[in-house]
Amino acid sequence: MNNKDYLLEEAYDPQSRYKDLSRFEPEFWKKKKLSEMSKEEWELLCDGCGKCCLNKLEIKGKIKFTNTRCRFLDSQSCLCQIYYHRFEKVPDCRDIDLAAIREKPRWLPKTCAYWLLDNGFDLPDWHPLKTGRADSVHQAKMSLKDKETVSETGIEDYENYIVDWPDL
Ligand code: SF4
Ligand code: SF4
Repeated sequence: MNNKDYLLEEAYDPQSRYKDLSRFEPEFWKKKKLSEMSKEEWELLCDGCGKCCLNKLEIKGKIKFTNTRCRFLDSQSCLCQIYYHRFEKVPDCRDIDLAAIREKPRWLPKTCAYWLLDNGFDLPDWHPLKTGRADSVHQAKMSLKDKETVSETGIEDYENYIVDWPDL
């Protein structure tokens, strides 16, 4: 498969999601449960960190993250390059729904907005919904941008890539 066939997001500007936040109730994430959110509100919660696209291993009942990333994740923008085809092209790509968020052991990073809200925490101050800037997740160093990651292509010994970053 030629990855270039699926590069759909070249013109996508992550900042476009935050251009007109006045359409939403202020701090809607504090007023609604995840299950009550509209699709648009739900999508806005994703901070764009890309960390859910790291490969993981389950060892003795615990999730260990590796620094190997899905081959379709752009390492600097942290955007999926095949977003609209992801489930078709990557069988183990996970939809972020309530069941995924509540799955044990936890496989989403502890900074994930969905996991935080579902566990009674507020969004962090660097979250784009609070700053109004899509790049604030990168500036806070909470995304994969500028982290040392490698594409999963060709990797078999995932246990040699386990990382223990504080934001996982
Ligand atoms: S870990 Fe959560 S907040 Fe980060 S990209 Fe994945 S779904 Fe979005
Ligand atoms: S296909 Fe799925 S796991 Fe891969 S980059 Fe896209 S969203 Fe992430």
